[in-house]
Amino acid sequence: MRAKIAATLLAAVTATTLIAAPATASAPAPPAPAAPSGVAAPSGLVPAQPSPEEVGAALRRIARDSHGRVRLGVIGRTNDDRPVRLASVGNGPVRLLYVTQQHGDEPLGTPAAIRALWTLGVPRTPWHRWLLGRITLDIVVQANPDGAVLDQRWNNDPTASGPYTNPGVGYDINRFHNPLTPIEDNPVPEARAILRHWQATRPAIVVDYHMQGRYVQPDGRETTASMLWPTSPLAGADAVARSRRVAVLNYDAMTYLAGANVSRYPGELYEGIARNAYGILGSASVLIELSNLPADRTEFQIRTAYTSMLATARTAADGSWKRIDPARADAIPPRGPALPPDPAAQPEMHPAGVG
Ligand SMILES: [Zn+2]
Repeated sequence: MRAKIAATLLAAVTATTLIAAPATASAPAPPAPAAPSGVAAPSGLVPAQPSPEEVGAALRRIARDSHGRVRLGVIGRTNDDRPVRLASVGNGPVRLLYVTQQHGDEPLGTPAAIRALWTLGVPRTPWHRWLLGRITLDIVVQANPDGAVLDQRWNNDPTASGPYTNPGVGYDINRFHNPLTPIEDNPVPEARAILRHWQATRPAIVVDYHMQGRYVQPDGRETTASMLWPTSPLAGADAVARSRRVAVLNYDAMTYLAGANVSRYPGELYEGIARNAYGILGSASVLIELSNLPADRTEFQIRTAYTSMLATARTAADGSWKRIDPARADAIPPRGPALPPDPAAQPEMHPAGVG
């Protein structure tokens, strides 16, 4: 089955683009236009670890070059009064939400998101009109700009204390999405902004992009990405099944289109983690962790996240993800042991092992 799925995915991909046309077996919907070639985003839109100013400038350029098809918004302000940026593309009924860089020192989802916005928003083809009439994609781009500037996991809040904080430094934003906490009691402005946006839009799919340390696959290759769906016992069975479908579609896209070595992330049950929280609220919710590989693999990692973002958008548009067997998620191998530290390695973007 896996070989068949890979063949279907690969047959739809050209050498110059990662946005595959929907599988022809798809269904009641009218056939989609073929995916265009030559619309892969330029790689120089932002550096791999962009500053908030570089993110803002790149998004403004894409909004301009897309003639308004990429729309920019601000859904909150950080403690250092930076905007929590939202970029949106599409006007369709299926709503998607991606979040990047909740942990300030885990940057690579952010350049991937900026490329995905370019690819979906700037070229104008029948395929784009087809896609953007079916989905509305919202991306919280660099959700933790204060942490990005400080190159730290947490937001910036010297008053922070208690569980899931670095006391005197800041809050771990990705432990403060708890849907059981009244939003006005939530002390983390970035998480409040994302929760309020979720409540306003009720996205069908939420994908949250992080980075992890370096690990080995069960077969001995190095892990390049890990992923997980909601594991909180508070998440409903239906939302978990939908989340596992989205996990499998991302596993296939990252493995067969991007060439990633993917494992299952050993995540916790806590309901304040975005992966759990948005599953509890009813979205199909998936966490993706890009491994912190050496610098010569940074472009590969950005392309892995970019591939994931476009594959999720495409399969949300044609509905094909709903036909994925959620049980296939059980075949994603558990994350293996950490690699021993390499004394010749470049300094890491964040402490090994943290996700
Ligand atoms: Zn993280």
